[in-house]
Amino acid sequence: MTRPRLSKPTLPWPTRSKADHEQARERTLRDATRLLTGGLCAVCRERDESERRWLGYFVTESHTDEGVRARLIAAAGFCPAHTRHLLADASLPWLMPQVHDAALTGGRPMLEQEHTRPAPCPACVTGQAAEQRALATLLPALDQPSVLRAVLEEAVCLPHTAALAAQANAAQAVQMTTAARAHLDAPARDHEVLWLAGSDPDAPHRPAWHTALDTLLPRETEHQQHSVLDRWDADAATDCCPLCLAEHRATHRFLTWAATATGRGQPAREETGLCPPHLHDLATIGGPNTTAVVQDNRDTWNRRLTRHQQLIIARRTDRRDANAYLLAAPRCSACDARQVAGNRQAALLDAALLDPVRTRTLEHTHGICLHHALTGPTLAPRAYDILTARLALLRWEVDEVLRKQDWHTRYEPCGDETTVTVRAPTLLDGRVYAGLPVSPAASPVPHAHQRSEADQPPARPTPAR
Ligand SMILES: [Zn+2]
Ligand SMILES: [Zn+2]
Ligand SMILES: [Zn+2]
Ligand SMILES: [Zn+2]
Repeated sequence: MTRPRLSKPTLPWPTRSKADHEQARERTLRDATRLLTGGLCAVCRERDESERRWLGYFVTESHTDEGVRARLIAAAGFCPAHTRHLLADASLPWLMPQVHDAALTGGRPMLEQEHTRPAPCPACVTGQAAEQRALATLLPALDQPSVLRAVLEEAVCLPHTAALAAQANAAQAVQMTTAARAHLDAPARDHEVLWLAGSDPDAPHRPAWHTALDTLLPRETEHQQHSVLDRWDADAATDCCPLCLAEHRATHRFLTWAATATGRGQPAREETGLCPPHLHDLATIGGPNTTAVVQDNRDTWNRRLTRHQQLIIARRTDRRDANAYLLAAPRCSACDARQVAGNRQAALLDAALLDPVRTRTLEHTHGICLHHALTGPTLAPRAYDILTARLALLRWEVDEVLRKQDWHTRYEPCGDETTVTVRAPTLLDGRVYAGLPVSPAASPVPHAHQRSEADQPPARPTPAR
């Protein structure tokens, strides 16, 4: 169902007549009420639907728009979550080569430009703008009792309640934080993670990784117990980015431990802070300690809300400082584990590249991904040389698939280049598959003499690059 778009948030205007003012207030109330009637969370939903709409329009129309293509090139492709969103649609193999083409066109030259980083994903930017519009719609309507009541009664998730409280007047902010603290003092409900972390449309795409990463944990332990280099050789021989692999494996190991550890070794309170996506992942993994970890995160929120309220009531500090305290991103131990593992694996890669024998072996393996080359720690030059060679081959394959999408090439057989649709992400951004190789189930079998209909663009011809 397509949701009606929100009116532009109204601003006070000194010359506005009383009738205009009334009309604007009615419109604000109408928009805010419409937002709040769809269930938890009004703001998350606007963000998620805006992203879905943008991606839907990208698939049907705007992928040919030069402006949209320029934004995708500047971002070196979509973020992992939005790449997964497009890959999940089995009817889109004709479109994905164009997405990979934009990622290569934008990301490859950045390898030579120091201090150049990819711009944010255009679908994420659209979602963030919708999120801000939704907050700006609710904010002026908070003086309406029905709107404030809905916000106090959990029509908005906790992070968005905090975002509203930071912008609302002091009295409304205190009411919102008091209500949120009352919910945090009460027993946790079934939808606790949804309220605590907001919605996460990518979460349903991630459970498959947990199963795959589960099998890697004992294997890593076994290799590591044999020798450090045994572990490194096994990682390097896996058909994916070794840095993405180490990061996701460490995150999964941490979350599995946090969810299942009991007794003396279980995580202490200061070790259980989690960001919203990792709270969702913890809930998916599940285990006897999950409730305790979620409760620790509730307690942390409770302390932050209490402190914010005290600062506002006592007026002991500037309101901006109180808001900065409330809105500061919570420290996430799973993100910390990921970062440490990535840095340690990068240091090991650098050390391995000092060994000529291991360098030669590495030249025959997958190597690091473009995302890590652009945003990760600085590595030995050979790591980038290997990536450059892999990207050159990938560029040829993407060009070949795009060339064969032309109707005039229909007499040519399609080869393995068609599988570049699902193979490219391991080289462009290994996070798309959680640092794992392409799942055999995801890899389409190329048709030797017959082109699959799914590989064809829709009736409308795809323009040349
Ligand atoms: Zn929300
Ligand atoms: Zn995105
Ligand atoms: Zn990587
Ligand atoms: Zn995290």
